[in-house]
Amino acid sequence: MPHPSAPVIAVVGAGFSGVMTALNLLRRSPEAKVILFERRVPVGLGAAYATHNPRHRLNVRAGNMSAWPDRPGHFVEWLQARGLGLGAADFATRADYGRYLQSQVAEIAEGPAGAGRLVVAPDAVVGIEPGGDGWRLTSAMGRAFDVHAVALALGNPPPARPPGIDEGFAASDAYVPDPWRWDARQLGPGPVLLIGAGLTMVDVALSLDDAQPGRPILALSRRGLAPLEHDGAPPAQPLAPPPGDLSPLRALAWLKATAADHGWRTAIDAVRPATRALWSGWSASQRQAFLRHARPFWEIHRHRLAPEVARRIAALRATGQLVIAAGKIRDLAPQPDGLALCRWRGRGERATYVARAAAVINCTGPTGDIVTSDDPLILDLVRRGLARPDGLRLGFDVDAADRLRDVSGASHPTLFAVGPATRGAHWEITAVPDIRGQAAAVAEAILGALGGRAPAV
Ligand SMILES: Cc1cc2nc3c(=O)[nH]c(=O)nc-3n(C[C@H](O)[C@H](O)[C@H](O)COP(=O)(O)OP(=O)(O)OC[C@H]3O[C@@H](n4cnc5c(N)ncnc54)[C@H](O)[C@@H]3O)c2cc1C
Repeated sequence: MPHPSAPVIAVVGAGFSGVMTALNLLRRSPEAKVILFERRVPVGLGAAYATHNPRHRLNVRAGNMSAWPDRPGHFVEWLQARGLGLGAADFATRADYGRYLQSQVAEIAEGPAGAGRLVVAPDAVVGIEPGGDGWRLTSAMGRAFDVHAVALALGNPPPARPPGIDEGFAASDAYVPDPWRWDARQLGPGPVLLIGAGLTMVDVALSLDDAQPGRPILALSRRGLAPLEHDGAPPAQPLAPPPGDLSPLRALAWLKATAADHGWRTAIDAVRPATRALWSGWSASQRQAFLRHARPFWEIHRHRLAPEVARRIAALRATGQLVIAAGKIRDLAPQPDGLALCRWRGRGERATYVARAAAVINCTGPTGDIVTSDDPLILDLVRRGLARPDGLRLGFDVDAADRLRDVSGASHPTLFAVGPATRGAHWEITAVPDIRGQAAAVAEAILGALGGRAPAV
């Protein structure tokens, strides 16, 4: 059914997923209007690209960071047009990537085709209900917006409270629950305990060292596995992916055998084009089994460090300033001197170690379970029965077109999700190379549902 008036679409969240959904809508339709909601400043950069620290680098080569699935060289062309001296194999700064995203907004939303059709609302959406000709959104500032369709691009929720941290300690000043909403420069002197050893830990450790060089840092995770470096240039000829119909066990065996012959990096790169087919063919219990066995290795090989970053982390480890250990927290308690006392047990050991820390920072990565979320909008969607968790509790349950499934399992034609919250359906939907195609597809699906599609691209 063509929409009688120009369709109005709400995009909630203005990180990469939301911005690119909005821009794809404007690019694909000559008439659609978009209201882009963002509750934090700066708008349009999200958690990843709002940094000014030039040492914070992308963890994906520039050649694979185009925001547009149909223009693979676009980011590299943008870098070269600005004389930044970087090519496809280099790792740009995350700040430059933020500038790239903002340039896309300026080009499309302020250009002749898009002018006046993108409204940025610096406000949090706290409620969504059926209303008017589609949906009625309410915002934290108490405003109401009637729109024809909604795309939720809420990003990653903050990490869950790890075992060993009780409510009392979690409420203390020494505990940092969300590493992305915290500034290392505000912390007084003293050692720091990081819980988790992935990319978030790497970022936080570098920020801590920038703010106070020499500060002792202990990073504790169950396995003590830190992300690896992008070693050397990618192979000229990538390996053929595995068949998309392998069982989880066979997929794991394929990975191990290929890694033995070609290295883990090449093996994981070869699997990536097939992850969607593999994942969508597995049952919930097969997916769970694969995650249980492959996830730790997948994470360190799949999410790798730019060489500059890896060199700094190696140097911090070599001097003993940064220690990455495998173990579990037994308990944590504030002490009269202001430092926290942590008792932890090494993996496979009986001994208990003691560490003192001026701050304990949760770097365990995002939680996806919408049922335990305390986010007002997610609570509202669950309470109204408009959303339900996927089988593995990685995010929203969505159908093959990324439409939210409601409590009964039915999907609504005009309520969509984009980005990491759709992990249950896609698994690999964390980084730009995965999300850019989804943002374009969701924009296309929204316009198709509203009958306002026009081949403007
Ligand atoms: C430190 C870091 C480095 C990374 N580096 C890379 C990299 O090098 N390459 C790569 O490809 N990927 C990288 N990633 C992955 C990155 O998460 C994705 O590339 C992408 O930025 C995810 O964007 P998003 O919009 O889905 O989420 P986010 O960036 O988290 O944006 C979601 C936005 O939604 C807003 N929001 C949520 N709820 C509401 C609401 N109710 N109302 C209004 N606004 C709301 C939030 O405030 C937030 O700004 C990195 C991630 C991090 C955290």
